[in-house]
Amino acid sequence: MSDQVTESYIDGASVSSAETYPNIDPSTGATLGDVARAGDKEIDQAATAARRASRGWRATTPEQRSDLLSALAGLIDREVETLARLESEDSGKPLAQARNDTRVCARYFRFYSRVIESYYGLSIPLRPDLHVYTRREPLGVAGSIVAWNYPMQLFGRGVAPAIATGNCTVLKPADETPRTAVYLARLATEAGFPPGVINVVTGLGPEAGAALAAHPGIDHLSFVGSTEVGSLIAGAAARRVAPVTLELGGKSAHLVFGDADVERAATVIANAILQNAGQTCSAGSRVLVHERVHDELLQRIADRFATVSIGPGISDPDLGPLVSRKQQDRVRGYVESAKEAREAAIVCGGTVAEPDGITGGAYFAPTLIDGVDPAAKIASEEIFGPVLTVTTFGAEDQAVALANGTDYALMGAVWTKDLARAHRVAAQVDGGQIYVNTYGAGGGVELPFGGFRKSGYGREKGVEALDAYTATKTIVVQL
Ligand code: NAD
Repeated sequence: MSDQVTESYIDGASVSSAETYPNIDPSTGATLGDVARAGDKEIDQAATAARRASRGWRATTPEQRSDLLSALAGLIDREVETLARLESEDSGKPLAQARNDTRVCARYFRFYSRVIESYYGLSIPLRPDLHVYTRREPLGVAGSIVAWNYPMQLFGRGVAPAIATGNCTVLKPADETPRTAVYLARLATEAGFPPGVINVVTGLGPEAGAALAAHPGIDHLSFVGSTEVGSLIAGAAARRVAPVTLELGGKSAHLVFGDADVERAATVIANAILQNAGQTCSAGSRVLVHERVHDELLQRIADRFATVSIGPGISDPDLGPLVSRKQQDRVRGYVESAKEAREAAIVCGGTVAEPDGITGGAYFAPTLIDGVDPAAKIASEEIFGPVLTVTTFGAEDQAVALANGTDYALMGAVWTKDLARAHRVAAQVDGGQIYVNTYGAGGGVELPFGGFRKSGYGREKGVEALDAYTATKTIVVQL
């Protein structure tokens, strides 16, 4: 990788492409250098290298793989400052959040280095004269197409369980955030991984991404991004009958009941939507609040939003820019649509921001919108910005119906002191993770994660992710 061009990393070496595209710093609008614009040729090169490497890699013992994953985790921790700076510059996220993301990425490699040594098949007592057992076998080559919101966390989430189970990988980072993925792949070589086990191909979604999705040598695909692109990828994989894990975002609701600890709820809800400027698939972007505590909750959230510092990610404010001007336009469009709706009221924010007179950045002020019609676009579509919509309810069943009233079903939170209600509502709200009197649990490497409905299918994270990268073989022996 030269200073100016971020290139793909294939088979243990940098690979250039005939064309490049600019990497734009969303904090300023300036360029951070160029990125190799790979396509079919580089994807084929990476898939071929991964296939070749997989012959040796799948024959390694869990202990050998565990040692390498653990060594890589150590190198990621060693490089925390460099990786965090690259991530913050590429994505605009505040430096402290980027440091945390680096540690979570290391944690994925450490976690899977540990659990892989106790990931077993079964012995099945079918008949006394038959010895029956199962093996969990790697699928071969796993492809990952990931989003720009948590580039390093998504690298760890996709690559660590795939290689721990004996697969080799080809990852395409998001167009906007390529640099940490390439850096991590180079660190893997330093950790001792054989060439071809971890490959990174940079480029644009419809080119490198589409080529990876369609490549016949990719045995499993995991995707994080929009529902629209996710369904394209699932379609491409279906044509050659390859399994897919899709994580497609959400419109997760906080259900704040009349007996909730409102002060705590307000703090957690505000911080969750400020994190990464609201560009989090699991952001709790819808507040459903009981009429009794509505005013207090809104006042507390508005007070928090009023104290937020905004600025370039690298200066470590509370709130950095959105990932791009394109994303800023998208968020502005949603908020403008709310302004046109009669009932909705912008309690605070609602506009782009220009901290310190920076006009080229992609900033958006933290925004609270009250009185939102559940049928409105802003209440049902993913905004992906620091924007909270608020809808009031009176009865518990009404709150549950509102929570389940979008096409998405990724996460949710129940805020109440009533234990019976907490469990009852947690069971009724659709979503892959439901929290009670808290939210997010710090990234949750250990917690199975994924959606229902248009939030996607399959589960990543936790021990359960190992099943996605393996298939069961049953062996029957006549004694
Ligand atoms: P996207 O779905 O277009 O991009 C996600 C990834 O898919 C990127 O790596 C991109 O290069 C790749 N990609 C794009 N087109 C492709 C194609 N035709 N074939 C293969 N790969 C392709 O998302 P976006 O445009 O960056 O963001 C749009 C919206 O998607 C956001 O506003 C947000 O609502 C949602 N989103 C959700 C998540 C999430 O965490 N679930 C992450 C990012 C974006």
